[in-house]
Amino acid sequence: MNDAELKACLDAITDPEIGRTLGELGMIKQASLADGTPKIEVELPTPAYPDRERLVELANSAIKAKSADAPAADVTFSWNVKGPETGGKIGLRIKNVIAVGSGKGGVGKSTTATMLAYGLSSFGAKVGLMDADVYGPSIPHLCGASGEPAVTEVPGAEGGLVQRILPIEKDGLKLLSIGFMIKPDQAVVWRGPMLHKLLTQFLAQTEWGELDYLIIDLPPGTGDVSLTLSQLLGLSGAVVVCTPQKVALLDAVKAISMFGQVKIPVLGMVENMTGEIFGRGGAKQQAEKSGVPFLGEMPIDASIRQLGDDGRMSEIFSDACPVHNDLLKVCQNVAMQVAKAQLLAPQLPQLEVL
Ligand code: ADP
Repeated sequence: MNDAELKACLDAITDPEIGRTLGELGMIKQASLADGTPKIEVELPTPAYPDRERLVELANSAIKAKSADAPAADVTFSWNVKGPETGGKIGLRIKNVIAVGSGKGGVGKSTTATMLAYGLSSFGAKVGLMDADVYGPSIPHLCGASGEPAVTEVPGAEGGLVQRILPIEKDGLKLLSIGFMIKPDQAVVWRGPMLHKLLTQFLAQTEWGELDYLIIDLPPGTGDVSLTLSQLLGLSGAVVVCTPQKVALLDAVKAISMFGQVKIPVLGMVENMTGEIFGRGGAKQQAEKSGVPFLGEMPIDASIRQLGDDGRMSEIFSDACPVHNDLLKVCQNVAMQVAKAQLLAPQLPQLEVL
């Protein structure tokens, strides 16, 4: 077997997660037979790719089928997050913008959004977390972050200097919330145009830098924030959080329909607070009924509430949270759904800009 034959046999493997060949997905970056040992570099579409060992096994069996006495391959992994990068038109360098929404409050939407940000970051991705829940901003508290975001000046596209908000950096995440700009007990009444202006500033006039994922915590239920977001930039999709009981599921169905109306694709549903109190499996069934992916269960667990209350969500993936593996699985599912949406989307012809 020569290098080209090795590459061809690896390119023919079907990726078990995405269902396309590694060749179609462009995942084999390098394949050579140095001293007879196959050396392979696989590029994953997200660092949260779930089962790397499975790919090693598939590579080895494909090689063995061609050349029975080949030694075990030396497989290394790199990653490059894929994304539509639709924020480019408003000057953003963010590969994927993911909204986290729910049909109603109190189902753990902000907890899930924060958990996703820490989880994706724990895999090595560059992540931002933006609080668009302007009626009840809880991201600063959950992350134990405070301080007022600084304003800086950067060269503008049309010459001169323009002002940009600098997100608060905490635990490797870039955070932005109206909660950093108002007193904790201050209520803000938002009129539509003000809300639109604030969200535009949070996106287009903020120095987010290069990010793989920006997670946005939406307000519960209503569609106004989602509509503004979808007008500003194309989102990679929305994650709908709900608890397993029937009443909550009905609201989640409404949330799915709302995202449909504002043209935001639904990445899937997460069942939160799974356990004895609220039950289990309701969201999975509903996801099937609604024809959207099921993204996993987050068990009800006192440590999740405690870490949130204490502003220690940064510890959610440590032993301080006994169910962290379930949470990590949800992060992987979300990241893979985002990758699939990007990789399996029909390639649209390039539009000519007149
Ligand atoms: P929402 O953003 O939907 O209003 P929050 O994220 O603020 O909801 O969560 C509401 C409350 O439920 C918080 O006190 C939070 O700590 C708690 N909570 C969320 N998810 C869980 C869970 N899986 N187990 C235990 N408590 C949870």
